[in-house]
Amino acid sequence: MKRYVKMSQLYAPTLKEDPAEAELVSHRLLLRAGFIRKGASGLYSYLPLAWRSIRKIEQIIREEMEEIGAQEMQVPILTDGELWRQSGRWGAYGPELMRLNDRHEREFALGPTHEEAFTDLVRNELRSYKQLPVTLYQIQDKFRDELRPRFGLMRSREFIMKDGYSFSADQESLQQCYDEEAAAYAKIFKRCGIYALPVAADSGQIGGNTSVEFMAVADAGEAELVYCDKCGFAADTEAATARPVLSEGEAGDLEKVATPGAGTIADVARLLEVPENGTRKALALVDGEGNNVVVFVPGDHDMNDVKAEHAFGNYHMMTDEELQLAGLVKGFIGPVGLPEGIRVCADQSLRDSQWWLVGANEKDFHFMHAKQGRDFEIPEWVDVITAKPGDLCPTCGKPLKGARGIECGQVFQLGTKYSAAMGATFADVDGHDKPFLMGCYGIGVSRTLAAVVEQHNDGNGIAWPVSVAPFEVEVLPLNVGDDMVWPEAQRLAQSLVDAGLEVVVDDRKERPGVKFADADLIGLPYQVVLGKRGVKEGVAEVKNRATGERQDVALDQVAAVLTEKVIAQR
Ligand code: ATP
Ligand code: MG
Repeated sequence: MKRYVKMSQLYAPTLKEDPAEAELVSHRLLLRAGFIRKGASGLYSYLPLAWRSIRKIEQIIREEMEEIGAQEMQVPILTDGELWRQSGRWGAYGPELMRLNDRHEREFALGPTHEEAFTDLVRNELRSYKQLPVTLYQIQDKFRDELRPRFGLMRSREFIMKDGYSFSADQESLQQCYDEEAAAYAKIFKRCGIYALPVAADSGQIGGNTSVEFMAVADAGEAELVYCDKCGFAADTEAATARPVLSEGEAGDLEKVATPGAGTIADVARLLEVPENGTRKALALVDGEGNNVVVFVPGDHDMNDVKAEHAFGNYHMMTDEELQLAGLVKGFIGPVGLPEGIRVCADQSLRDSQWWLVGANEKDFHFMHAKQGRDFEIPEWVDVITAKPGDLCPTCGKPLKGARGIECGQVFQLGTKYSAAMGATFADVDGHDKPFLMGCYGIGVSRTLAAVVEQHNDGNGIAWPVSVAPFEVEVLPLNVGDDMVWPEAQRLAQSLVDAGLEVVVDDRKERPGVKFADADLIGLPYQVVLGKRGVKEGVAEVKNRATGERQDVALDQVAAVLTEKVIAQR
């Protein structure tokens, strides 16, 4: 027979005080509410409450993977160093890869991801195009010796990941596997109660060319995003091609104006009473080949490093000395009358802007009404600015919103990067051996748990969405010692269990205030409060943790009412 769990026996040691080391809400609440405990830096135990939620997230993943025909399996966590050499990552992965030797001095790595292991697995036994495509996945602990393990489950050194790998015969099939996987991911996060934006991503360490990251929107996120709530466009501010809203300078003859001491955009804008986006900012740098470069960007936008490296290679901003040597006047650089020998470019967003307010290449002077094509030319256009909220959506033109995001999952098209390097081939229709086209697909399961908490909490604690809540209902008898209340509470709890709900009963002899506080802290979706008055009148109070909504429900109706509510949200 299924039973409810007694709070007195549940291993969920709550903390009265906020743990000092926890900066993030999720980290703090998961520690305080007795979900996780730290072993060493970046290593956590999942206590029973967390483990139940983790298992639910995994179950959601399993169901959605089954929908798209991905097959679950398991490879060893420990991977042979030789495989990493074959792929070229033994060196490339760097100190994040946790390495160890066995007693025979053979090298191994604790898998941070398993492209090598899966490619090795199939390379001798998946032989014919007739068997393709195949998608395999596992849910397993991963290891990364992060430079700065922090924020609890968010960035740990041992964490749970679902990682999947698809093997296809051609690009069309890879695209299909990838699209199905991406669609499944969107469903998984939604079912977990996470609002996630799919963001086009640079593929980074793992390689390949087409990739999307699923970013849970939360202030705690490390990534800065812009998104469009009209058409669904979303991008990292550092990757998006920005369409800033520009204000044009006025038309007129080129006019030199005195701007004494106004060497910053803010100063100039204030002095000349123009908006910052009506000015053009000049940045001076030395590109990877040693050329002096001046690049113009909208006054209210910044250049970012990632894009600048694309455009300028291994560049650096000019020092005061380098500025002087190049004949440039700090704070007053403009496109009219620049010294010789400078590589001049501007951000693509300024291409259609005619009238510029710019420095006059003379200390304490600016030019107004500098006209592109008349007073100066821009010989080279680059894409270097960071997008920001208020810029226009590159897809539909509506203003973008800003958000921060937690990367909970990522899908990549790897192509033949690993199969070619590791000699994993299949016999194609034409009889020729070809390397598999691979995709890889990861979800940070433990990070996702933390992301759920980031999105579902209030001043009192966590407010779990039903789908991933450790239990669904907490029964709170206000007076356990009372010989009416306690037996009725037990009966009530058992009726909920019999109706298929997951139930905890707070059987502790604590004051009601303590019980309420703990119930709100742990955050099960529904609380059923039963006191003396309730027993007499035959009612319990049902509270929705997330909304705070309360209703009195007849004792013999509680199971029916809650089942209906809970099932709809599972
Ligand atoms: P990040 O940029 O945050 O370091 P990543 O892009 O290196 O992550 P992937 O290789 O894409 O990570 O791994 C797949 C997923 O595993 C990530 O989307 C993330 O949810 C999770 N993950 C990665 N590193 C960690 C970590 N140190 N702790 C917890 N989860 C992690
Ligand atoms: Mg990633």
